[in-house]
Formats: sequence, C-alpha cells, structure tokens
Amino acid sequence: MEGGSRSKFKRVCVFCGSNPGNRDVFSVAATLLGDEMVNRKIDLVYGGGSVGLMGMISQRVFDGGCHVLGVIPKALVPLEISGEPVGEVLIVSDMHERKAEMARQADAFIALPGGYGTMEEVLEMITWSQLGIHKKPVGLLNIDGYYNNLLALFDNGVKEGFIKPGARDIVLSASNALDLLKKMEQYTPEHEHVAPHESWQVGQMEQLGNYPRKEG
Ligand code: AMP
Repeated sequence: MEGGSRSKFKRVCVFCGSNPGNRDVFSVAATLLGDEMVNRKIDLVYGGGSVGLMGMISQRVFDGGCHVLGVIPKALVPLEISGEPVGEVLIVSDMHERKAEMARQADAFIALPGGYGTMEEVLEMITWSQLGIHKKPVGLLNIDGYYNNLLALFDNGVKEGFIKPGARDIVLSASNALDLLKKMEQYTPEHEHVAPHESWQVGQMEQLGNYPRKEG
C-alpha cells in the first residue's frame, strides 16, 4: 500500500516498552512502525506516556499528522513518571479501565518490544480473542527476534496440549512493520471461541466495539 492509501484499520493500539531497550534497533523499529501507520493513515491509541518506545512511536505518528490518543491511569499522570504526552490524552482511573478503553478504541493490536507491561497487555488481547470477546487482529512485532522465545513458548503450549492449534493462529508476527500490517489486514479469525462471540455482546463486546467497524 504505497502512496498513503488507506488501511482497513482506522486506529491501531500499540503496546510497547516504557523503556527504549538497550539497542538502537528497537527505537528504529518504533519509528518505522510510526511511519508505516502514517503512510496508511492509521491513528494510534497507546499508553499515553513519552517515555521509552511509547514516546518514540507517539511522536512519530503525531508528527506525521495522524491522531494520537493516549490512555493513561491517573497514578501515572505525573510528568516525572510518564513525561509529556502528545495528542489527545484520556485520563482513566486504573489499569483495567485503561486496557478496556484501548481495546475499545482500536481495530487491531500490535506489540513492539517491551517488558512485563507490554507482554501482559498483548497477552490479554490474545486471551480475549481466544474467548471470543473480540475478533480484532493481534500482532507481535518481532524485532531482531525479541519475541522468539515467547513464540516458542506458545508452540510448546500447543505441543503440550494447553493451547489449541487453531488458537495458536491468533498470534500473528513478523520482523518488520510492513509485513506485520499486511498479515494483520489479511487476518480472519478461524479459531473456535471458548464462548460464542454473541454471548459477550451485551457486556464486554459492546464496550469493545465491533470489528470490522460499523460505519455511520
Ligand atoms: P513495560 O513493557 O513493562 O515497560 O510496560 C509498558 C506498559 O506499562 C505500558 O502500558 C505503560 O503505559 C506502562 N508503564 C510502565 N511504566 C510506565 C511509565 N513510567 N510511564 C507510563 N507508563 C508506564
């Protein structure tokens, strides 16, 4: 998709480290993902800080002219903790509300390299897909093999009978932003849901919004 044509995603949630990592390759990857989102006119929802990779991607998407929504729990608002965010900031009461809001706002989820926070957030979205709560694509941006061991752990989960082979396909991954976005745009959920998608409708599904988005 060259020349700034639109993606099927209106807004993507990016989970990423509140640290920049020890090697430049991670900051470069955050910048390149930001560029790819701008190229495809995809808005960003993220954790609302300017620290680490969060700061790099949010600045890049903002500078490129796309909308940036940061969702930040009030405990992390002080500037010495999270820095000065760009774009629109939504202050929420706690981490649960933050994750639900990010999930509701986004059409898809991407994890750049990050620590416990990033892994917890992306695993929750994978789990919610498995349960049938949402049908949105989830992708790991596997920069320089950062997520190889996690992907191997998922494969082991299949081998040992804790993850259904179909559910393994929920987790998309690629080593660069372009390939990952292409895979995510082609994704159709085919795994068996733990509970029917419709049964979440009144509660969590309604809050999370539909994917594909209903226009109008
Ligand atoms: P981690 O991957 O462990 O760096 O954590 C990333 C997640 O934790 C993101 O959702 C962040 O919003 C949150 N987080 C951790 N530390 C901070 C911080 N200093 N400022 C803002 N968010 C943070």
